[in-house]
Amino acid sequence: MKSWVVGNWKLNPASVKEVQALVDNLVDGVSAQSDIFQACHIVIAPCVLHVSQVSDILERKQGLIQLACQDVSALTATSGAYTGDISAQQLRDSGVEWAIIGHSERRQYCHEDNTALLNKMNHCADQDLGVILCIGESEAEYEADRTTQVLADQLSVVEDFLQQSNKVSADYLSNKLLIAYEPVWAIGTGKVPSVQDVTNVHKFIRERLQSFDSTLATTPVLYGGSVKPENAKDFAASELINGVLVGGAALKADSFLDIAKAFSK
Ligand code: PEP
Repeated sequence: MKSWVVGNWKLNPASVKEVQALVDNLVDGVSAQSDIFQACHIVIAPCVLHVSQVSDILERKQGLIQLACQDVSALTATSGAYTGDISAQQLRDSGVEWAIIGHSERRQYCHEDNTALLNKMNHCADQDLGVILCIGESEAEYEADRTTQVLADQLSVVEDFLQQSNKVSADYLSNKLLIAYEPVWAIGTGKVPSVQDVTNVHKFIRERLQSFDSTLATTPVLYGGSVKPENAKDFAASELINGVLVGGAALKADSFLDIAKAFSK
């Protein structure tokens, strides 16, 4: 299975000029060693204000790097009177292929819950926009040994999605769903779980997905949380870690591409 390396830029960089420089550096780096980088999928998620700018650059460099957004409307798949929202249809029209949903920061600050996530998944499927569903336990839940319970609850959105969306094609299920396991306590903290611990959690996630539908037996499961060039090789060595979601280290082309190299096997 080809690995996935996804960069979540969050609310960065601060200016159009810096966005331009970061994308140019990424495109130059990937083009210079395209034989290496062909071995993994590279995805970047700028903030929505910069999506069109990044899309224009990537369109000219067809297929090198895929484009994701960091959120999508739960209210509609298309258009309407929903001030401030951005729909799956509009994102697709702007060249976006993936939507990150359920990131712990959005769960925490924007109260994104399973009901909203289910709507988002349905809207994404409606517009053939891929979903990167983030799940993960908090530090308190980890310490209370509740990780699998928390993940089972968060994954129930996928089960509900499958039950409700009988029109979702097998092709969509096989190619447009990624799960990112991100322990909240590892995000931006420099604390990382051991590769063995992540592998065990991924095994649980994979079994759970498979129990919903056999098509999900091959759904890529990514790890996220303080991934850096220094630890990427260790994560890449595990068969059950199909890629990474990267925050801080995605904001420098060199470090992001070093991580991608570790997954380009
Ligand atoms: C993230 O926010 O999804 C993330 C993984 O951040 P970081 O790599 O900075 O821990």
